[in-house]
Amino acid sequence: MDRSGYSRQHYTRREVLSLLGTTAGAAVLTPPIDLQAQQNFVGVSNLNLPNDAIIRTLQQDLDPVALSNGATLFHEHVGRNDIELAVEELRASAFDGLGCIVDAATGRRTTEQLRNLNEIAARSEVQVVMAGGYFEDIGFAIYPIRVSEMSEDELVEELVADAAAQRWGAFGEIASSLEMRPDERKVHRAVARAHLQTGLPIFTHTPHESCPSCAMEQMDVIEGEGVDLTNVVVGHMATIKPEHNPLAIHREVARRGAFIGLDTLGHEMGRSDIPAAAKVRMVQDLLDAGLVDHILLSSDQGNARQFKHYYGHGWSSVLMQFVPKLRFAGVPEDTINQILVDNPRRLLAFVPK
Ligand SMILES: [Zn+2]
Repeated sequence: MDRSGYSRQHYTRREVLSLLGTTAGAAVLTPPIDLQAQQNFVGVSNLNLPNDAIIRTLQQDLDPVALSNGATLFHEHVGRNDIELAVEELRASAFDGLGCIVDAATGRRTTEQLRNLNEIAARSEVQVVMAGGYFEDIGFAIYPIRVSEMSEDELVEELVADAAAQRWGAFGEIASSLEMRPDERKVHRAVARAHLQTGLPIFTHTPHESCPSCAMEQMDVIEGEGVDLTNVVVGHMATIKPEHNPLAIHREVARRGAFIGLDTLGHEMGRSDIPAAAKVRMVQDLLDAGLVDHILLSSDQGNARQFKHYYGHGWSSVLMQFVPKLRFAGVPEDTINQILVDNPRRLLAFVPK
């Protein structure tokens, strides 16, 4: 596989199907697939997954091997009313090497939102994973009143039922405030228990203001329900400020088994003030510490104003802005492939229960 980054590759439909591991006659994407990438990311390691592990996208249940061609972004915001725009953006990002994208939920989706996301997926060659759950008790996307009215058991039941009915492939993004509020604790526990029933991985949101204690508490609560933290990503770890010693926090997240979600790359938000150079440094420090298996990259992008259509980077900022910085810093191509292709596949692979 040419990794120079500028080769054009043409696949016949038959080759694409064999790459996807699809059997003849199975439901496949409707439009003719035309994979021509200006950049390609490929799996480099043996994942050692159980034989019956799958990755659940809205399009299909995939053998994780089928996602060995293309980068996966584990935390983005894909769903929207403007379906044409989303399809166009995904097509453009596929050209930059994107193979799979996870749509994070900030609340329970409406019927219309579900229909929109499914249509976007049906019209995209990029595999779309629907994640679900509740966000936070105060702030940006607050819980509906019913979350405080529901018991923890009722929440678990609803999460498990929605996950099955709507084909979720993950739980996320699950947030806590600077001080974890009682309902947030309840939601974290419910999501942890729903994971135990479904096997679906979990990704979280910690406050953009930099909150090491939030990361620790999220792991405490989720692990407290008996979850193996190798199924969990602690999110927004690139927002940890220098005075909070990012490497020490990241090491502790990894020591407990979880993934370190560096998922605000190329998407700078007001409350976080970490320059890209510091985020590159974070990756280098993690590599020096031997923690490559724990690194996940994403951009948490959902703002149409930053889409390619408006001359932004959209869902390509990791692939087109951040990866070149890693290359410039001397990070080997195999390591980049491992982080962008293999690590997210290990996260998303689960054995259906
Ligand atoms: Zn998000």
